[in-house]
Amino acid sequence: SKPVLARPDLWREAAFIAGEWRTSLKTIAVDNPATGEVIGHVPDFGFAEADEAVAAAAGAFAAWRAKTGKERGAILRRWAELMYAHADDLALIMTAEQGKPLAEAKGEVAYAASFLDWFAEEARRIRGEVLTPHMADRRLVVTRQPVGVVGAITPWNFPLAMITRKAGPALAVGCTFVVKPSELTPYSALALAVLAEEAGVPAGVLSIVTGEAKAIGAVLTGDPRVAKFTFTGSTGVGKLLAAQCAGTVKRVSLELGGNAPFIVFEDADVDAAIEGALASKFRNTGQTCVCANRLYVHDAVYDEFAKKLAARVSTYRVGHGLTGPTEQGPLIDARAVAKVASHVADAVAGGARVLTGGEPNAAGERFYSPTVLVDVRPDALLVREETFGPLAGLIRFTSEDEVVAMANDTRAGLASYVYTASTPRQWRLMEALEYGMVGFNTGIISTEVAPFGGVKESGLGREGSHLGVDDYLEIKLACIAI
Ligand code: ADP
Repeated sequence: SKPVLARPDLWREAAFIAGEWRTSLKTIAVDNPATGEVIGHVPDFGFAEADEAVAAAAGAFAAWRAKTGKERGAILRRWAELMYAHADDLALIMTAEQGKPLAEAKGEVAYAASFLDWFAEEARRIRGEVLTPHMADRRLVVTRQPVGVVGAITPWNFPLAMITRKAGPALAVGCTFVVKPSELTPYSALALAVLAEEAGVPAGVLSIVTGEAKAIGAVLTGDPRVAKFTFTGSTGVGKLLAAQCAGTVKRVSLELGGNAPFIVFEDADVDAAIEGALASKFRNTGQTCVCANRLYVHDAVYDEFAKKLAARVSTYRVGHGLTGPTEQGPLIDARAVAKVASHVADAVAGGARVLTGGEPNAAGERFYSPTVLVDVRPDALLVREETFGPLAGLIRFTSEDEVVAMANDTRAGLASYVYTASTPRQWRLMEALEYGMVGFNTGIISTEVAPFGGVKESGLGREGSHLGVDDYLEIKLACIAI
């Protein structure tokens, strides 16, 4: 059943298109991953409704961009404040459809609101430049303008934050926005739209279209009225959608899969490294694109690290996020459970040993016990592919050069983590690791204040920070003869 909310109207079984709540006879069922129980139905919309949302966004663009940054910022600020005010309800909705423990869901609500808050402030700080001219009678002025209509497709692992991290900067600079949330977690997105409307976001400036991914995706990546497309999700789908954008030369931002190395050197504070590994590896049941995916531990501290990590992991309470206390919830679906199981089986076949976990969990069909494996071979499946689950596989190393080479031996390049007390080594690794983000002596690197994004096949563009508006702005030159 659906969660009991202080504000029941935050639960919508309708999509939000062109400022209207629209229902459909054709629907998609949404379930609670902890129980498999269907909690509701949302419209199964497609090409026609996506087209209407884009038309409304194109129509709303002129008036929205004409507002001052301060005016747009005030609306975004109200939107953020409404999120903070209704954080408990938003968290209940999220846990019901996504599964993460309620405390983590509350954390995500605050994190998601922080992007609206941040970009509300940035709205007033979009600057241009006046350049030194190349001729005595010329003047060169560089301005930055909103790109126009933005199309977005977002995933289920952070149902609120992955939307606000895009909608925040887009709306702040004057773009209008159409998003297709994941079909697995539409209720969080729809609740966000209720609050956007309440905050004063004008009709058409923000639309949430639920339904058929391919059809809606075809409009958002192919319609010439959409100037920019932004996507967070799997690498395969991201490549496909980026290719679809080529036909109209859309600006494209991508946040795709990672394969984060987590490196513990012999001079590291091992206890701090354990805390970092727990936070990075097991948060959201290992379902974040910045999750530590493979743990390289120096031979000198390997046994101590393994033993302590397994001891902590074995105390994790696994269960339903709403009924807690729980440190770990379910995985999103059966396929996700099968992937973890296959990575464990592959590693064990290659000689790895299970220190804790290594099997499905009795809490339910989509639960897998948090797992620590030692003696994992450097070419194991869990090293080459992103597990996206609660599996920590430990690989032994002895030299800095060796571990840097192993860490960089991937097409992914999102997050990486290094534990070492040596400042010179921090500098060397900051430069050598082919990643968009490196956490030194910390397992948590995400904040609205700093740029988030990847290199290589992990993506294009950056989200968050003062740089997060760049992807939503076009540069325009005025060359003036005087
Ligand atoms: P994950 O493996 O994390 O579920 P996906 O890349 O499959 O990642 O999903 C991320 C988002 O992309 C979801 O909103 C999903 O509906 C959407 N999506 C998946 N396939 C397509 C597609 N072919 N066209 C458009 N959107 C898609």
